[in-house]
Amino acid sequence: MKEIIYNYAENDYAVQDAMICSGVGEQHQKNFGAVSPPLVKTSLFVQQSYQQYCDDMQHEAERYIYSRGLNPTTELLEHKLAALERGAACKVFGSGMGAISATLFGLLKSGDHIILVNNVYGPTVVLVKQMQQRFGIDYDIVLSGDVEDIRQKIKPNTRMIYTESPGTMTMRVVDLQMIAELAKENNIITAIDNTWATPLFQKPLTLGFDLVLHSCTKYIGGHSDLTAGAVVGAKVYLDIIRDFSHQLLGAVLAPDSAWLVIRGLRTLPLRMRQHQNNTYAILTFLNSRAEVENICHPLMADAKQREIVSQQMFGTSGLISFELKDGSFEKVKAIIDSCRIFKPGCSWGGYESLIISPNRGYNQDVICKDGMALGLIRISIGQESPEMLIADLENAFDSIKTY
Ligand SMILES: *Cc1c(COP(=O)(O)O)cnc(C)c1O
Repeated sequence: MKEIIYNYAENDYAVQDAMICSGVGEQHQKNFGAVSPPLVKTSLFVQQSYQQYCDDMQHEAERYIYSRGLNPTTELLEHKLAALERGAACKVFGSGMGAISATLFGLLKSGDHIILVNNVYGPTVVLVKQMQQRFGIDYDIVLSGDVEDIRQKIKPNTRMIYTESPGTMTMRVVDLQMIAELAKENNIITAIDNTWATPLFQKPLTLGFDLVLHSCTKYIGGHSDLTAGAVVGAKVYLDIIRDFSHQLLGAVLAPDSAWLVIRGLRTLPLRMRQHQNNTYAILTFLNSRAEVENICHPLMADAKQREIVSQQMFGTSGLISFELKDGSFEKVKAIIDSCRIFKPGCSWGGYESLIISPNRGYNQDVICKDGMALGLIRISIGQESPEMLIADLENAFDSIKTY
């Protein structure tokens, strides 16, 4: 049995983060003293005079003219996310993929090369493959995350190293500081999808990364009632993303959703604490079960991985995958269908516990090609009581015994 470490978010950033989330510094007096920020639901802003309009058009990036550019509600969210990541600037988008595509389209051009490091979110890989076919943007994938393996793939035209840590499905972590150093030596932009850790549990910009991306659909929104995305980082890159991708590609976030994300942030520290506590209990349970071959979560990894975790993470969240010893589709299906609280559903990071598997019965060859086990099951651990969640899984495991 592997040792489990438990590394909770008592860190230098936690107090400031709690203030950012709870709204310290919001300008209530501008809005009749309303403690909750206004939802400014408008497509355009009329000006006091035509001269005013002409002046504003010279400062489009900072003035309220048209909501595809700047809107006070989405702007407040952008300030908060930038502050949480300790970044200079942020733009928000209508989904995580909106933010990811805006970043890649904004900063790459034909003839560039991008290196994807670790197991990156599937649709992001598909997008990069499409960019190669359609626009001649070359790519390499380095699954190991090893710095020497990455170094070997660097070419004169390598423009970006894009990673995800912990990686999708495998939850394997990569050493962010070492990757940032390697990239800097070679004048390469670094970007990371930080959705799993949230800004509370990992701050890649402080480790030398240039850009951090989020699907706010997951933990940041936290209530499974919206899609949203964000990119945070240095102003030089965010200016390009704002002027080109945000303004011209136009996948912007509606103020309504921005308002809900701000509301989600109010409880983010509380929710992440609960996700983490529930997850700790469930990891301990899964670790005790004979049916489980392997558990994928940073706390369950080998000593080298856990060393990286303790260097760069302040906590761990509740998206886990584990392998059943018997990976037949029937067993996978039986486990999922025997759960009552965990529901089959593809997203994660909400209040509700979810369960899925990459094994859909008809795609075994694809799973094997991707190096995944057929018995892999992914659970998103919600806010319910850990005792209930464990009882639910226990019942499901018992059901495959008699199956
Ligand atoms: C869901 C997800 C995305 C995409 O976000 P959407 O809001 O669904 O577009 C990107 N990265 C990761 C790791 C995700 O889980």
